[in-house]
Amino acid sequence: MRYISTRGGIQPISFKDAVMMGLATDGGLLLPEAYPQISPEQLDAWRKLSYPQLAFQVISRFVGDIPANDLQAIIERSYATFTHPEVTPVIHKDGVYILELFHGVTLAFKDVALQFLGNIFEYILAERGEHLNIIGATSGDTGSAAIHGVRGKNGINIFILHPHGKTSPVQALQMTTVTDANVHNIAIRGTFDDCQDMVKALFNDLDFKEQYSLGAVNSINWARVLAQVVYYFYAWLRVTEDGDKSVSFSVPTGNFGDIFAGYVAKRMGLPMGTLLLATNENNILTRFVNDGDYSLANVVSTASPSMDIQLASNFERYLFHLYNEDSSRVRAAFGELKSQGRINFSADEMERVRADFCSASVDQAGTLATIGDFYRETGYLLDPHTAVGVRAALKLLPVDTARVCLATAHPAKFGEAVERAVGAPAPVPEAIEALTGLPTRCEVMDADLEQVRAFFVAHVG
Ligand SMILES: *Cc1c(COP(=O)(O)O)cnc(C)c1O
Repeated sequence: MRYISTRGGIQPISFKDAVMMGLATDGGLLLPEAYPQISPEQLDAWRKLSYPQLAFQVISRFVGDIPANDLQAIIERSYATFTHPEVTPVIHKDGVYILELFHGVTLAFKDVALQFLGNIFEYILAERGEHLNIIGATSGDTGSAAIHGVRGKNGINIFILHPHGKTSPVQALQMTTVTDANVHNIAIRGTFDDCQDMVKALFNDLDFKEQYSLGAVNSINWARVLAQVVYYFYAWLRVTEDGDKSVSFSVPTGNFGDIFAGYVAKRMGLPMGTLLLATNENNILTRFVNDGDYSLANVVSTASPSMDIQLASNFERYLFHLYNEDSSRVRAAFGELKSQGRINFSADEMERVRADFCSASVDQAGTLATIGDFYRETGYLLDPHTAVGVRAALKLLPVDTARVCLATAHPAKFGEAVERAVGAPAPVPEAIEALTGLPTRCEVMDADLEQVRAFFVAHVG
């Protein structure tokens, strides 16, 4: 399997090269040349597999340059850090299925991808005798999961930018209490988009990127999307165990990475009814799907901060397919976005978009009401991100389908919102309890690219 860029400016490269490249050198995103096809018979044969075994079956079809035994060991090591024996269990509650993706070390779904990515990086770097300086932007969850994915690993430094004061207290602690020498937290006085813009600017400086062996860890890295494809298969296999039924997925969406993984699963032949794209008040993607309106607005802070994003970086991957893999169209669309603040779509394109997705935006009042209602009806606590997806699912997904809602974080991770919704704090798991009082390390600075660059240069060692 080889990888190409959405902008069409690179020769096809291998999986390992795609992982190490992160963002394509032409400014695009990397995608496989084709999606492996899974037949219904194959799918049925996967029913008896454990999560790591299934992950190997899915992931290995995209990896042509790592021996099977090595890949298997990497996958097993990555999911051994999860505290649930099923890794991503599916719970049936009140007419919906909750796909619990938060049993990893930072209690959010990003561990699924970043434990894998950390181990892949370590493997490739050791093999090549190279080192890597990871720079990433986070609205909270990516950063902590990335840091935990690579802390203490040989050959890797990590620099994570997060918007100062705009992550949840637990997210901040999960990042800043990691004081390993290879971990550098930078809190930016600004928004997540400011952080992401600076990271993108550093990556687009190709001399700088090469001189300092920059690597990406945010959701533009193909290995992350790939690891997330697995749990769509896993959930589908679980909910269809007692007979054939149509399965639909509701995905609380920020950077479009998680839902793009669902789209990939669909392209691979996983039978899927609707793929529901759920957003909070930062609803550019909902406006896009429902009204063809892809126009930038300001980022607003919400009860689901990991979805407080306007420019979803993985959206470009979907655009590439919407434009029938024509990279000149992708380049033109981003030119349009830059000059006009919007991308325009034809009626025909919008018809195809609506065949792939439906969408709903859920505001803060709706999110909190859903946490409260769901708790009173089922005794089950939703985190605010998951609640956005559940509310959207109850509104839009057909009741005669198995409605799978992706639970992207543990409720205690966003305890403040949960407490407001149900009137009592979420029980705090030991993993969080243990963080209070630990020493922390973090550098606070303005949203100034040159200041960030100078800090980085001073600390790469
Ligand atoms: C990152 C995140 C999301 C959004 O996922 P994307 O892949 O960015 O769309 C949703 N919920 C939580 C808890 C997250 O951490």
